[in-house]
Amino acid sequence: MSKPTKLCTISDYESFIDKFDTFLIDCDGVLWKGDYVIPGKKILFVTNNSAKSRADYFKKFKNLNIEANEDEIFSSSYASAYYLKNILKFPKDKKIYVIGESGIADELALEGIRYCGLNDNIVQDQPFTLEDITPDPEVGAVLCGIDRYINYRKLAKALYYLNTNPGCIFLLTNNDSTFPFHDHVAPGAGAIAAPLITSLNRDPDCIVGKPNKPMMDCIIQKFHLNIERTCMIGDRLETDIKFGINGGITTLLVLTGISSEKDFLGKDVPFPITPDYYMSSLEIPRDMIVV
Ligand code: PLP
Ligand code: CA
Repeated sequence: MSKPTKLCTISDYESFIDKFDTFLIDCDGVLWKGDYVIPGKKILFVTNNSAKSRADYFKKFKNLNIEANEDEIFSSSYASAYYLKNILKFPKDKKIYVIGESGIADELALEGIRYCGLNDNIVQDQPFTLEDITPDPEVGAVLCGIDRYINYRKLAKALYYLNTNPGCIFLLTNNDSTFPFHDHVAPGAGAIAAPLITSLNRDPDCIVGKPNKPMMDCIIQKFHLNIERTCMIGDRLETDIKFGINGGITTLLVLTGISSEKDFLGKDVPFPITPDYYMSSLEIPRDMIVV
């Protein structure tokens, strides 16, 4: 594997920018931690967070003074809805049982996909009983994302549909084990899905979000991208950089989030995920600007 190139000077940065038409930019760890300066290029914001819809993200961007259109935002909630509708061609007479939050529900509704399960977010005073699992032959898939209201009833219902409805498919919006939470980490969507994976004793049929191919397939299909002129920018080697590598595009790691130089340059890392380029931050350091 060739050595990653560190972008140190303004001319390194400019010639790097010239190589691409489109930048896919991870959000948490890249955008929230610095201004981005990429003039005259198409920018798509790609986040594994499924709690929000694109409309929710648009509001967040506005509050942070980041310029973006709603359809430049690609959350794993939207990617899952897009994938179900346009790639899996999920049948109109079926519906999805959702373990997740309003971001997923809103995006499914916008794609005209029927869903259920959000009401099970309300924790009832009664434990799970046999009455909770009434047959619903219309459930044709279970979609699981981050769910900060997760409870036993929801897991048991999802398991029931997956075990009893013929052909019921099991999808995850993303599989992050954790996500950054203030100065700590909190359990991610992968941790929410783990009890189901254990109970089913099998992997999901599809994991949509980074680093997996479905999210990239959706982006490329929707925006007709030339993969040779597209670059993925992110802060996490195992999600963002692997996503770019799996999708066959160039990658740039910024060191403002999770991963650091020792994770890919260190001698103790046996199989490093190596970006093509890396730099300290997307915000061009003052000493890079020649006056
Ligand atoms: N999952 C959840 C629930 C999150 O809140 C976040 C970040 O806030 C992520 C995943 C990772 O998001 P990103 O892909 O933008 O780094
Ligand atoms: Ca990130």
